[in-house]
Amino acid sequence: MSCLFCRIVAKEIPAAVVYEDEHVVAFRDLRPQAPTHVLVIPREHVASLDEATEGHATLLGRLLLGAAHVARHLGVSTGGYRTVINNGPDAGQTVLHVHLHLLAGRPLAWPPG
Ligand code: AMP
Ligand code: ZN
Repeated sequence: MSCLFCRIVAKEIPAAVVYEDEHVVAFRDLRPQAPTHVLVIPREHVASLDEATEGHATLLGRLLLGAAHVARHLGVSTGGYRTVINNGPDAGQTVLHVHLHLLAGRPLAWPPG
């Protein structure tokens, strides 16, 4: 298995997991860009949002609901948070397993860089 995030799902690589259920795993980003920076990923491998199909609609919904759940769980939902899915080179996607960034704990500039 060569996908880094599939290996985290399989517990072959350690990660600071903050939440998991039968559909998603959430763990702290190695290089946090905010006081709270968590990645929410589906257990099932999908390379990117661009590669997602109609059949992944529930999976994508679970990512969003998972992020909201994690935000409440970590106590950042009242202060506010941002969710980001980078897709492709211009957005800086580096890991080809779809993932949602949950960022919180500081004011987040808009527009983003
Ligand atoms: P992206 O640039 O949107 O593809 O996001 C990939 C993210 O994964 C980056 O923010 C990295 O810091 C993070 N990352 C890479 N490897 C690991 C790892 N082993 N554990 C946690 N986060 C990681
Ligand atoms: Zn994968």
